[in-house]
Amino acid sequence: MKKDFYEILGITKSATPEEIKKAYRKKAIEFHPDKNPGNKEAEENFKLAAEAYEVLSDPDKKARYDQYGHQAFDGAGGFGGGHHMNMDDIFSQFGDIFGSAFGGGGFGGFGGSSGGQRRVKGSNLRIKVKLTLEEIANGVEKKVKVKRKIQAPGVKYKTCPTCNGQGQVLKVTNTILGRMQTATTCHVCGGAGQTIESKPNNADAYGMILEDETVSIKIPAGVVDGMQLKVTGKGNDAPGNGVAGDLIVAVEELEHDFLKREGENLHFDLYISFAEAALGVSKEIDTVNGKVRIKLEEGIQSGKILRLKGKGIPSLNSYGSGDLLVHVNVWTPKTLTKEQRQFFEKSLNDANFIPNPEKSDKSFFEKVKDMFS
Ligand SMILES: [Zn+2]
Repeated sequence: MKKDFYEILGITKSATPEEIKKAYRKKAIEFHPDKNPGNKEAEENFKLAAEAYEVLSDPDKKARYDQYGHQAFDGAGGFGGGHHMNMDDIFSQFGDIFGSAFGGGGFGGFGGSSGGQRRVKGSNLRIKVKLTLEEIANGVEKKVKVKRKIQAPGVKYKTCPTCNGQGQVLKVTNTILGRMQTATTCHVCGGAGQTIESKPNNADAYGMILEDETVSIKIPAGVVDGMQLKVTGKGNDAPGNGVAGDLIVAVEELEHDFLKREGENLHFDLYISFAEAALGVSKEIDTVNGKVRIKLEEGIQSGKILRLKGKGIPSLNSYGSGDLLVHVNVWTPKTLTKEQRQFFEKSLNDANFIPNPEKSDKSFFEKVKDMFS
């Protein structure tokens, strides 16, 4: 009997996409193999959580699951009975969600822990990309130059004669309990199962050279400062028949000139004059995806917050976008001409200028409460 996906993540059916992601992140960290080395049960839970998240984070699959349960994925194309995602899939699909809690790596060392043949994995490379808020809001493809180790042209590898390509050697020792066999990493090939037959002079001891390569990185809209993305196979190549490591890309968000990001929402301070506040005015606002014209009613109050729905940052793993919150500030002139001074002195006793806030002119604190509810 297969466990319920909601139960696996410890959430209810009414959970929002954000809550589903949070719940998954928590489970992934709890059962992460780096934290539970060699613990089969943790690994199983880690896989189950990924499988549950894979379905529940996809609106289409979630709807099917809600209607038909696990049956929705039996048979063709689905997960079928007991077929799990493998660890590499999980790291390449969801690694960025929980990756930052660990060094961002996958497993380093050997790719794929099961099966007979061990393949050495090249080391990971790390870079940082700086992104403007506009690039984050719209998604962007960045081309970066990396220095990668690759196999030198002309290098030849051969099966390691010491371990016969196994990468391991068996050592037999006599103990009081009898003969014991232990496997240790082959010291000749370092576990790769292959050694150099011939290599060009400019290559290092593993037959590798450094080469500049331009790698194109697709950055999805909605990434967050500090997040790590993984470009599979763009780290250092491995010698012999090994597999390349990954390129780990750390996201850095550049500060914007006039927009402040808060999660998926953006804030903008708009300054208008007394006259504009009193008469009403139309203003053009620069957003992360173009200009938007907004209309301020006559008699608008300083401190009013206008919410431009969907003009914020897109959500990385669910639908929709955050909002752009425009904070209206009425600008008070710092000096006045003689005539202006006379005008305002006269209006001091004008009943129409005396503050008379209505319920709808909410206090600052009520607005803040609204914003976060
Ligand atoms: Zn060997």
